[in-house]
Amino acid sequence: MTEKLLEVDRLKTSFFTGAGEVQAVRGVSFSLHKGQVYGIVGESGSGKSVMAKSIMSLIQRPGRIVSGTIEWRGEDLLAKKEKELQGIRGNEIALISQDPMSALNPVVRIGKQLLEVIRRHQKVGKRQAEAIAIELLRRVGISSPEERLKQYPHELSGGMKQRIMIAMSISCQPDLLIADEPTTALDVTIQAQILELINDLKTKENMAVMLITHDLGVVAENCERVMVMYGGLIMEEGPVKEIFQNPKHPYTEGLLRSLPKQLNGAKERLVPIQGSPPDLLHPPQGCPFVDRCPYAMEKCKEELPSFIQVGEDRHTLCWLHEDKGKEGEHHE
Ligand code: SF4
Repeated sequence: MTEKLLEVDRLKTSFFTGAGEVQAVRGVSFSLHKGQVYGIVGESGSGKSVMAKSIMSLIQRPGRIVSGTIEWRGEDLLAKKEKELQGIRGNEIALISQDPMSALNPVVRIGKQLLEVIRRHQKVGKRQAEAIAIELLRRVGISSPEERLKQYPHELSGGMKQRIMIAMSISCQPDLLIADEPTTALDVTIQAQILELINDLKTKENMAVMLITHDLGVVAENCERVMVMYGGLIMEEGPVKEIFQNPKHPYTEGLLRSLPKQLNGAKERLVPIQGSPPDLLHPPQGCPFVDRCPYAMEKCKEELPSFIQVGEDRHTLCWLHEDKGKEGEHHE
């Protein structure tokens, strides 16, 4: 096993709104190692993006981390001052968001923005920063990089802007790249190119990548491990191959059934999961999936299951495995 970079333990993050506490992340634990591509999958509102922002210490009011720990290379991130965090963000952990426009200033040329990021993290002069910027744009597959530097964001396509964002994120050679739905707004061909680029960077730079997506197909093709989130909790966690071949959690089963399949040359109809996710302002006392689960039992309504070991390196949060598995850590 390679060096452990990140260790998240029983993380809880809530938003304190006028209506009450929205428990967005309700006790999530996992670790991430150098060079690993880790998928976080779930529907919107499952807590995956809030968890990523918690790791980056980017949760803003009315949100806050309520409890738990986040260790980066053995150091407590939650005890760090903002200045130290700024050093870690960008230098060691970088985030690619779903919306490149929110990270790019529309009235400033690409070159100026990219140079600013490079010079913030590296002690180099303007000329050298420009050379680094051109090389970075080449690495992310942008043609005529010298010309692109002179352009404004609105002059570039969505895929190009996403590549610029990736160039900015990797400019300081982070050890962990958090990619939050990096391809959602892009068409299928560009999506594939961006994911290929992220994989290529992972291989060449030995970066760890946390790939957050609602698309299990993306996880299957790109990740080694996966965490399936639902209602602010982990439903299932383990090696991608095993989970795809033999899902243990009814929610994972449902997600897999809802993936489009090619059957005799035609696309098979999807089987969507009926119902809607739980209200995290009033999370259910038992299993969060109970209202949508075809196997739900009386007990599921009353008590949150334990995280149960269901394989050498796999866990699931479901009462169905109570007698078969070994009980792991409880998340509440
Ligand atoms: Fe379904 Fe019960 Fe398992 Fe929840 S605990 S997923 S309701 S069987």
